[in-house]
Amino acid sequence: MSLDIGRDARVTIGAASAGPRAWLAMKGFEVKGWCPDAWRPMQAGDGLLVRVRPPLGQLTRAEVLGLCEATKTYGRGRIEITARANLQVRGVGEGAWRDLVAALLALGLVDPDPAREAKRNVLVVPDWCDGDDSHRIATALLAQLDALPSVPGKVGFAIDAGVAPMLGEASADFRVERDSDGGLLVRADGRETGMALEPRDAADALVALARWFVESGGIGSGRMAHHLAPLPAWAQGGSRPAPARAPLWPGAHALGAIYGTAFGTIEADTLAAALADADAVRFTPWRQLLLEGAAARARDGLIDDAASPMLRVEACPGAPDCPQASVATRPLATALATRMTGTLHVSGCAKGCACRRSTDIVLTGRDGRFDIAFAARAGAPPRHEGVTPATLLARLGAA
Ligand code: SF4
Repeated sequence: MSLDIGRDARVTIGAASAGPRAWLAMKGFEVKGWCPDAWRPMQAGDGLLVRVRPPLGQLTRAEVLGLCEATKTYGRGRIEITARANLQVRGVGEGAWRDLVAALLALGLVDPDPAREAKRNVLVVPDWCDGDDSHRIATALLAQLDALPSVPGKVGFAIDAGVAPMLGEASADFRVERDSDGGLLVRADGRETGMALEPRDAADALVALARWFVESGGIGSGRMAHHLAPLPAWAQGGSRPAPARAPLWPGAHALGAIYGTAFGTIEADTLAAALADADAVRFTPWRQLLLEGAAARARDGLIDDAASPMLRVEACPGAPDCPQASVATRPLATALATRMTGTLHVSGCAKGCACRRSTDIVLTGRDGRFDIAFAARAGAPPRHEGVTPATLLARLGAA
């Protein structure tokens, strides 16, 4: 794919052949690995950012209404859905943080023990059903939080035991997946194969794998995919995950109705209103809502059109909400969405918070301008450097 960006952009040829790490280091980027939660909020440009982890990715109607009220009282009345199906309350004042945590504790959405809360990094395939393998394994793992070691905040689990894997592009270090013969496997991220096992053994195997990760120096590696130590014999196996199935997408679903959100952001009032005819809601790593038991119909503030160009576009908050950004991201992404085909990621900096996968075009902010790469992740060696938003919009015909 190519993009005519005009004569004021410098075309970089040599840098495109350098590796991403070398290019990032050359540009002086520091990609931090810290991950916030409710007990450890992150300071953002618009106040504290507080992350909430819905158990199994699901909240009841009462929990949603309580969270929405707390968001309006202590934040900016807006909720973000992350790429691991967690929720973020932004714009929380330092004086309001304790009251917000107290409200979340009262709702049962935060573990009273900060160490246990930090371990609740479990992503579950969002179309799980009561009593199926995904539901039982995730429940068993969450019941063993005390047995898990402390790991870096980004290290987490994916319970993906539907008829075929769906979470392959989601960030996770230890995965439970289905193989082509209908069996289950536990796989360490970065390894192509995993260990076949019975569903009843999966949670114990995940705990053991996390312990091995720590004991073998994995914390120094940061993530499982970067940890090159040979797996212990008991964790080795030749089972391969089955070919991936398609992710969920807006429209009617056997469990209810699925809706997209622009950049994963939803107003608290919109979310509360969406629950009027739903018993519960599930959040997906594609930043959607699955309204359980609800009919598929148009709803204000939510994307019900499966062909909406906004579903092909990712953008982090950018400037001024994030102090690491030197560029505004979402207005540009919105303007470009209808002017192009394919997938687009507009990232405020090389960290690429909004999207870890490769997109057809990725714009990475740097020093008030954008670097452009194709079929790449944020921060990849660019094909074009230092392009202004005005140039991008002009070349793509937007006003
Ligand atoms: S990618 Fe966006 S949200 Fe993440 S640190 Fe960079 S500017 Fe901030």
